[in-house]
Amino acid sequence: MPQTVEGVIASKVGEPVTTTQIVIPDPGPGEAVVAIQACGVCHTDLHYREGGINNEFPFLLGHEAAGVVEATGDNVNEIVVGDFVILNWRAVCGNCRSCDRGREHLCFNTHNAKQKMTLTDGTELSPALGIGAFAEKTLVAAGQCTKVNPEASPAAAGLLGCGVMAGIGAAINTGGVSRGDSVAVFGCGGVGNAAIAGAQLAGATTVIAVDIDDRKLDLAKSFGAHHTINSRTEDAVEKIREYTSGFGADVAIDAIGLPEVYKQCFEARDLAGTVVLVGVPTPEMKLELPFQEVFGRGGALKSSWYGDCLPSRDFPMLIDLYLQGRLDLDGFVSETITLDGVEEAFHKMERGEVLRSVVVI
Ligand SMILES: [Zn+2]
Ligand SMILES: [Zn+2]
Repeated sequence: MPQTVEGVIASKVGEPVTTTQIVIPDPGPGEAVVAIQACGVCHTDLHYREGGINNEFPFLLGHEAAGVVEATGDNVNEIVVGDFVILNWRAVCGNCRSCDRGREHLCFNTHNAKQKMTLTDGTELSPALGIGAFAEKTLVAAGQCTKVNPEASPAAAGLLGCGVMAGIGAAINTGGVSRGDSVAVFGCGGVGNAAIAGAQLAGATTVIAVDIDDRKLDLAKSFGAHHTINSRTEDAVEKIREYTSGFGADVAIDAIGLPEVYKQCFEARDLAGTVVLVGVPTPEMKLELPFQEVFGRGGALKSSWYGDCLPSRDFPMLIDLYLQGRLDLDGFVSETITLDGVEEAFHKMERGEVLRSVVVI
């Protein structure tokens, strides 16, 4: 029987979100219904509401979630009812040209549930990133459910489903940070601080945080930054050189996605160093770099999409590190709220007051 539950909907560009009744179909083949326990509020949810992703309103927002599998359809082998799972937006297909070559973490043909969740009048909903988890329950593809240790707090665990994974993965998977590296991270919101935590986990010995907000720089210290730079008052490139014996960082991470910031990353890295872009640019942005230096400095200019994560490989491992006290996921949870608090949480996010507000159900 289809179920009616509460969910948070964006109906029109720029209008406040509303909590309303939505209809969840029974899971079809390869699908699962998950009872949501927690879901973080991410910038991408706001981008959906602003019409910045596409125009397929109404959206069922929310995509950084953890919960318990309530029902599964036919042909579901990877999970069973009762499993504690983190939802991911990279359910790999297993047979695209990338998967075929053993690069499932770059799968070009990820999938979501085939059936649609709807409003009670039958209007089809577009779930954010194919998830839609600001709701008591959601319908996803079974491959979007990654089973992890149920001892983890749902509010902390869910954050691995998007922003925190993007940041940790930018450092570890994309940047290849390893023992003894120096790492500079520009932008210390949820993603940037996750990159700092990732750099620390990987054994970086010099971690430098750059932001224009001293509150965020203080948080960066708590996630493992050894040096902080307020780039409103200090020259970030110069200071990074100073903290790295005059050479620059082995890995420089742009967690903002602005051409000016990217250029600073480019200039602040050592010869043969790596620049990682994990912040999301907008369509009108253009980047200009001295081409000879692109060649002459060597190294790599890389982009990190979802932290180049493979959920089945990375989520259980990071949850284990969290449970061992080696990764402070709780530190990303600035506050817990109810479904009705999402709109206010957007404003707090815009004002830079929170790393993550997390809806707890
Ligand atoms: Zn694939
Ligand atoms: Zn997100």
